[in-house]
Amino acid sequence: MISRRDLLIGGGAAAATYAATSFFPLIAQNAPSFGAPSVVQVGFRKQKLGDMEIVALNDGVLRRPLAAEFVKNAPLDQVQALLKSQNLPTEYIDIPFTAFLIVAGNRRILMDTGFADNGPATTGRLMANLNAAGFKAEDIDTVVISHYHGDHINGVRNKAGQLVFPKAKIMVPAPEHAFWMDDARMNAAPEAMKGAFGAVRRVFTGLSADQLTQFQPGAEIAPGITSVAAFGHTPGHTLFTVQSKGEKFAFVADLTNIPQLFARNPDWAVQFDMDADAARASRRKVFEMIVNEKMMAGGYHFPFPAFGKIEPLGTGYDFKPVA
Ligand SMILES: [Zn+2]
Repeated sequence: MISRRDLLIGGGAAAATYAATSFFPLIAQNAPSFGAPSVVQVGFRKQKLGDMEIVALNDGVLRRPLAAEFVKNAPLDQVQALLKSQNLPTEYIDIPFTAFLIVAGNRRILMDTGFADNGPATTGRLMANLNAAGFKAEDIDTVVISHYHGDHINGVRNKAGQLVFPKAKIMVPAPEHAFWMDDARMNAAPEAMKGAFGAVRRVFTGLSADQLTQFQPGAEIAPGITSVAAFGHTPGHTLFTVQSKGEKFAFVADLTNIPQLFARNPDWAVQFDMDADAARASRRKVFEMIVNEKMMAGGYHFPFPAFGKIEPLGTGYDFKPVA
């Protein structure tokens, strides 16, 4: 178990824990295929929040075989039984990717970015969906990043190296930036994790101080939008709450992978959680906050439209997408 303080300062012990248990989430791209995921129908969805508007923007989906290691601390037959009880396939998992745009007055704030043209063929749809929702890349004034896994940051720059949102200031959690930009840590990382460090450098190297701003989790990043530390999935994994006229929304990023498994069983650890114990504690705490404060929740890997209600169910929670 590592302490908050270790996470914040990125101490040696923390680094060892993370390095030993983590790898890049999209490593399974060459895994056996189960056919094209049925995601053609998903696009964008708009929802009012007080004076603001929230727009869910799907970037696509990745289908991966359901292997025993997907849930690190539960037997495969239990995982399959839970999927089956919700009429979901048991041989594979479809993991969607959905970013959120907050329209607040004249501000256009995008939370996470998808892959742009850097990912698998079933991704990279965010821009088309942004356009379909009535916005242009130039309209985005701010991009906020929850954490530095490739599915969240690759869309900052296209393959050619250009910034996808040319006028946007990019805001990142300081502890996340510190962890991934540490060259010594990259050099000491296992081979399988070096790609993740490389992706971070591809995206963030060469940005001016005007273009890239670091914030401490807990800070307000725009009027009505506050960052919340939820470390564990990665060392600096950060959420964002949005508030307007008494209505509240939380973008929980990767607090859980698909909620059909990890909201129902908040103590289950998806293989991508870099520190499973810290992630579990964050998950319980944030779900409790969402329920107590009657917030709407949106998750990056939630089934489209990717936002809705979180309700207590059994020893965990149920995600109910908006109709
Ligand atoms: Zn993710």
